[in-house]
Amino acid sequence: MTRLPDAARDAEGRSGGAAASLEKIAEDKGIKYFLISYVDLFGALRAKLVPAQAIGEMQKAGAGFAGFATWLDMTPADSDMFAIPDPASLIQLPWKPEIGWLASDLFMDGQPVAQAPRTVLRQQIAAAAALGLDMKTGVECEYFLTSADGKAISDASDTAEKPCYDQAALMRRFDVIKEICDSMLALGWGAYQNDHEDANGQFEMNWNYDAALVTADRHVFFKYMVKSIAEKHGLRATFMPKPFIHLTGSGCHVHISMWKKGKNAFADPKGELGVSALGYSFIGGLIHNADALCALTNPTVNSYKRINAPRTVSGATWAPNTVTYTGNNRTHMIRIPDAGRFECRLADGAANPYLLQAGILAAGLDGIAQGRDPGKRLDINMYTEGHKVKGAKRLPLNLLDALRALERSKVLKDGLGAGFVASYLKLKTEEWNAYSRHLTQWERDTTLDI
Ligand code: ADP
Ligand code: MG
Ligand code: MG
Ligand code: MG
Ligand code: MG
Repeated sequence: MTRLPDAARDAEGRSGGAAASLEKIAEDKGIKYFLISYVDLFGALRAKLVPAQAIGEMQKAGAGFAGFATWLDMTPADSDMFAIPDPASLIQLPWKPEIGWLASDLFMDGQPVAQAPRTVLRQQIAAAAALGLDMKTGVECEYFLTSADGKAISDASDTAEKPCYDQAALMRRFDVIKEICDSMLALGWGAYQNDHEDANGQFEMNWNYDAALVTADRHVFFKYMVKSIAEKHGLRATFMPKPFIHLTGSGCHVHISMWKKGKNAFADPKGELGVSALGYSFIGGLIHNADALCALTNPTVNSYKRINAPRTVSGATWAPNTVTYTGNNRTHMIRIPDAGRFECRLADGAANPYLLQAGILAAGLDGIAQGRDPGKRLDINMYTEGHKVKGAKRLPLNLLDALRALERSKVLKDGLGAGFVASYLKLKTEEWNAYSRHLTQWERDTTLDI
C-alpha cells in the first residue's frame, strides 16, 4: 500500500490532529465504525465504512478507492487512490455515536491528488499562510425540508406569502431542528440560532465561524447530518439552489475575515465601515474574479435560477444579480454587515464546501497581491435601482457562461492549479452538454407549432 510523505500529512489550519491514534480514540469513545470520507469534484460525499478493528492500518495507509468511479476526472486504468483520514476532522455522529466520521485527503502513487477538492483548499490555505494570513469563515447553509419524494415542501400549512421567521412553521418542524441543533451543540460548533427562511419550507441554522478548513469539513458534515436527521423523521432535506421556481432559493452565504498573528487583519476602526485596506483589496479580488468564481460558487445548471432571478412570491430573491458591494444591505454580491468582516452572498447550496472556500481564498489573495480596487460602494437597493448604475457588471446568466469565464481566468488557473481547473471544466462541460441534450416541455410548448 502507498505510504504518503510525512510532510503532506501535516494539516494546515489545524493543530495536533495528525499524531492522534484513531484506534485509541475508538476505544475511549466507544466508536465501532469509521466513515473514511472524501468529497469529489461535484460535491458528492463518498466513504468507506471501516470497523474500528481495521482503523490502525487504514490511518497509515488509507482506504482504497477507484477514482474513476467518482467525479474526479480519472480513468478506469488509473492506480487506486488512497484516502488518508485526517484525525483532526473526526466527528462522532451525535445521532449514532458508534460511528466516527472522518474527512480525508486523497493520494495516488504516493502523491496528493491535485484535483481533489480538500487538497485544492489546503493549497490555498498554505498560500495564505505563506503571507502570515489565516482565513476564517462562517457559512449559512439554507435548505428545504420536503416530502420524502422531494416533490413538495413537507408542511402543507406553510403557505404564508412572507414566511421568513414564521414562528408557527418553524415550531411545526421543532423535532427535526432541535435534533440538528442539539447535535451541533454537542459537537461544540457554537450553534446560536435557527430560523424559518424566506421560502415556504426553507430553514437556516447558524454556528460559529472558524478556520476555513474546519468550516469546510463542518459544511460537508452539516449537509450529511441535516439529510440524515430529516430522513429519520420521514422527510427529505435538499440544498438544491432553486427547487421551487416561484420561491426564494437556497443560498450559502460566506462570512469572511482574515487573521494575522491572532488579530483580525480585516478590522480597522479607521477604515470605511471598519474594514481595513487589506479587506478592501480582498473584496477587490472577489469583484475582479466574480464571473470565473461563479463556476465554483454556483456550480450547477440550477444555480442560475437563483441568481439573476425574477422576484419571488415573498417580494425579493435575496440573491445577487450584479458584481457590486455595499454596507448592511442584502441586494448586492458583497455586504459589509459589521466591522472586520464581510459577507459574500454569491454561493448557493450546491457549492462544493472545499472549492467554495478555495475559490474565495484564491480570488481574495489575488486581490491582495494585485492591490485590486473594489470600486465604489453602492448604498442603493440594487433590485430596484440597479439599472441606474452605469457599468455595474452582471453575474453570468448560466453555467456555460461561468465555465467559459473560468476557462479564461488566468488568476484562478494560477491560483487553484491548471490541472484542477482543466479537470473541473472537463466534467462540468460534460454536465452542461448532458443538460443541453435534454428536451424540455418548455421547448415543446413554445416551438411545436412554429
Ligand atoms: P446573516 O443572516 O445576517 O448574513 P448569520 O448570523 O446567519 O448572518 O451568519 C453569520 C455567519 O458569520 C456565522 O457563521 C458567524 O459565525 C459568521 N461570522 C461572524 N463574525 C465573523 C468573522 N469575524 N469572520 C468570519 N465569519 C464571521
Ligand atoms: Mg472491490
Ligand atoms: Mg443568516
Ligand atoms: Mg439566509
Ligand atoms: Mg447572510
